[in-house]
Parts: sequence; C-alpha cells; structure tokens
Amino acid sequence: MKDKKIQPEVEIGVSIKKEFDATNWKPKTELGKLVKEGKIKTMEEVIRSGFRIMEGEIVGLLLKDLSSEFLEIGQSKGKFGGGKASVWKQTQKKTAEGNKPKFQTAIVVGNLDGFVGIGKGKAKETVPAREKAIRKAKINIMKIKRGCGSWVCHCGTNHSIPFVVHGKCGSIRITLTPAPKGSGLVIEDNSQKILRLAGIKDVYSRVKGTTTSKLNVVNACFDALKQLSVIKVRKENEKILGIENGNEK
Ligand SMILES: [Zn+2]
Repeated sequence: MKDKKIQPEVEIGVSIKKEFDATNWKPKTELGKLVKEGKIKTMEEVIRSGFRIMEGEIVGLLLKDLSSEFLEIGQSKGKFGGGKASVWKQTQKKTAEGNKPKFQTAIVVGNLDGFVGIGKGKAKETVPAREKAIRKAKINIMKIKRGCGSWVCHCGTNHSIPFVVHGKCGSIRITLTPAPKGSGLVIEDNSQKILRLAGIKDVYSRVKGTTTSKLNVVNACFDALKQLSVIKVRKENEKILGIENGNEK
C-alpha cells in the first residue's frame, strides 16, 4: 500500500440526486391524486393507507432528499478492462437482422433515513434502462426499522439494525446481524450501498451460496431488509432496541 488517498465512503458509485418537480405531473392512481392534492403528506401516511404505490412520482414528491446509486451487477467486456465490475449487464439476442444488445441495470434509492428501494431496468439503450430502474426502485420503496440490537453496544440509538434478519434469492442465503458502533458495513459492495442508502451504518453479515450472480446477492440483501419492514416489535422492546417510532418527524 502506497500513500493512496483514502476515498470518502459516500463516493462509491454514481449518485444521481435530483429534485422532483410536481407541477407537470398528472397522477393516474387514486393514491397519486391524494398525494398531489396534499391530502397525504408523508410516506408514513402512504404506508398506513394501505394503497400500493404505482407511480414513482409519489415517492419523488414525498421524499425530497432521495438519493440513488447504481449497483454493479454486470461485468465489462474486452481484452484489457474485461472482467471488471460494471453497472451494466449486457445481453445479446440473435435475430435475423443480427445481434441485438440489451442493457440491464439495478439501482438503489434511499433517503439515508429508513427508506430504501431497489429496482431493475432492461432496455435497448442505457438511459431508458436507468430510468426504468429508478422508477421501479421508487415503487419498491419500503420503510425499515433501524436500531441497535448489538449486545456489545447496547446504546439505544438507530445506527444498526434491531435484530438478526435473513434473506434469500436463488442459492444465496444472507444473514445481517446488528453490529456495535464503529464497525462499519461488513458486507460486499452492492449490499453496502443498499444499507448505506437505508441509513444503516454498522452491520455484520454472512453470505452463503454462489455469489457469481451479483443480482442474486442484491435481491437476497433486499429480502433480508424486508423483514426489518414487516416484523412487528412490542412497544416495550422498541426503546431497548433503539427503534425510532414510525411517526413522522
Ligand atoms: Zn449501538
């Protein structure tokens, strides 16, 4: 190791933060209309309402500080740069007119404060694939419980996760475990991005299975996070585990 500059944590991947302008948005769903009219003001209300989010604009409007990052699900081709992780997964379809390439990408969106979603997009060109992925990531957004379930730390704040969760996809089995403050995200790069955008700072992990399919690892990680959204915790345990209430701030 030479005196290489240590990169700041947030600079991994490409961030494409942008503010959503709702003036020209014409909502198609009932939920969309309620949000645009201002009758539903927060994402927590959306979740409580039980409506399914069908329009990415809803999330764009209610979560202003949303960031997104590409996940590296593909490998670049070529003699020299080949084999490097890439955000594009390329597929070829052989047709009478020749090879038709398609680009697939996966994107994570989050507000670094408990809301996170991932989405995949496939298209003939990179830009529409990215747009599709962002839209799907917004639609898939969920609120997760953060906390501190580490017996070593036991600090009662929400820097980690409140309990152990498991996720799976294909042959991949992933386990996320609460970690004490300062441990960082002890997990592979893509999952690191997902957890970081969700607002989790410390976590231990274990991954089993064939990790060559990066998309499976990503899906398994998201599957594990789903448990943090679904599993109910008793009121008296919430404080002990450092879980913030689901109420709007
Ligand atoms: Zn702690």
